[in-house]
Amino acid sequence: MSIRKLLSALPLLLLGLHAAVQAADTASAPVAVKASTVAAASSVPAVPADEKPTQKVRTSFLDGWDQVPLQRLEDQAARYRGTYFLEGLHNSKRIALTFDDGPSAYTASLLKVLEKNQVKATFFFLGEHVNTSPELAQAALKAGHTIANHSYNHPYLNKLSNTQLWDEQFGRSQQIFQARLGIKPALIRPPYGVINDEQVTLLRDKGYKLILWSIDTQDWYVARKLGAADGLYKTVLNTVHPEAIILMHDGGGYRADSVEAVSMLIPELKKQGYEFVTVDQLIGTKPYLD
Ligand SMILES: [Zn+2]
Repeated sequence: MSIRKLLSALPLLLLGLHAAVQAADTASAPVAVKASTVAAASSVPAVPADEKPTQKVRTSFLDGWDQVPLQRLEDQAARYRGTYFLEGLHNSKRIALTFDDGPSAYTASLLKVLEKNQVKATFFFLGEHVNTSPELAQAALKAGHTIANHSYNHPYLNKLSNTQLWDEQFGRSQQIFQARLGIKPALIRPPYGVINDEQVTLLRDKGYKLILWSIDTQDWYVARKLGAADGLYKTVLNTVHPEAIILMHDGGGYRADSVEAVSMLIPELKKQGYEFVTVDQLIGTKPYLD
């Protein structure tokens, strides 16, 4: 090519270069669209701009106690966003106290503490215990707390078939809640936090929300130890965050330390500007199915 020919072609070459640069500029847009398509294909829901990008457990892992790895809880929360919750998805200073494994002999004293402090909480009761102590469950319901389903008798769900999962555990409990309390809880908490994806899907398709936690006080572990109530108090104050779901127990063992910790925690957290709500209020869903 002669110099003259090259010079005459220069404007065209530059035009081509400009077009190439433009194409590179806009390339980011199609890539972004592609990423969301891939996310949809693998069924991870997109995160709305006004929501927390991830949900996390803030307390540390207790090794050697057959606990679910925290990463597993966090991965499931991402895969089943809107169905499976470790915490509220926004950043308001609202938090939810949750109590598992009751009703038990400690439920009445816990209800007194909550009433004195004008706080509503969420109780994940076992169907088996509601059947034997319906009056305690009725007292909790009457006081305005949310009643939720924590299975019939606390098995490891991963050892159950889908039929057993429903007929022997959550469905069986639902019948007891219906008969004893006249309600169909819409919130479920898997015992030990163990549930596989297939079971999450099955319960989701029946209309349930799965509620885990972002703060595990491990009150079942520290119970009866010297200074247990103080320890629980400190654990929560050190890890509290907007829209936390706090896990404690009112059943399944000695729970006086948990009740005492709650009586100390509520005034302090209120002083810090936190408002106590039930889990259904926190995540904006209904507490009971029709
Ligand atoms: Zn439990």
